[in-house]
Amino acid sequence: MRLLLVEDDALISRDVAAVLEKNGYLVDLETNGEEAWFLGDTEEYSVAILDLGLPGMDGLSILKRWRENERNFPVLILTARGNWSERVEGIDAGADDYLVKPFQMEELLARLRAIVRRTAGQASPIISTTRLRLDTRLKSLTVDGCPVDLSPLEYRCLLYLALNRARVVSQMELTEQLYAQDFERDSNSVEVLIARMRRKLGVGIIKTKRGFGYTLEAGEAS
Ligand code: CA
Repeated sequence: MRLLLVEDDALISRDVAAVLEKNGYLVDLETNGEEAWFLGDTEEYSVAILDLGLPGMDGLSILKRWRENERNFPVLILTARGNWSERVEGIDAGADDYLVKPFQMEELLARLRAIVRRTAGQASPIISTTRLRLDTRLKSLTVDGCPVDLSPLEYRCLLYLALNRARVVSQMELTEQLYAQDFERDSNSVEVLIARMRRKLGVGIIKTKRGFGYTLEAGEAS
């Protein structure tokens, strides 16, 4: 999942980016406010972490401009201790959650998982369809009740399809969400990945809509 991390404190951003990457996020790190605004306005992100005090343009202005422009990805703001009015203003400006510095990485990760889920209309950490059960806390999967081992990349791909299962996800969108650099973005990569996942998951789970992209088997668990 592509994540925009906007933080001008080099120590915090380096540590946070490292942990996020270890947890499977593709991180674009930006330290300047104006550049960050531009990235969020033009690139497709699944979620953003936004510090409020930034050079160039402050975080609240960035957030307001994104929302005015219907950039609706979930945003978690980072705020200074004790500054409750800043948090209120941030939430009113369109933030989905906030965290007060200094924070624990585990809490940041849990909050990110939650806002990404909720944005997809998924309140529970367990995503169930008729045949799949994906536990986003344990990163585990069962198909028709049988556990299936997925690589980290396969898990991220399935999670993205599961969170967006109400629609068809194009090959280009999946490529952007799963592969960091342009040089990794071979147009075949996603096809090869999906073929490998289909062998693990069995037929009928990941469907191809010719000319449009991929979708997961429909239907909620009863
Ligand atoms: Ca700052």
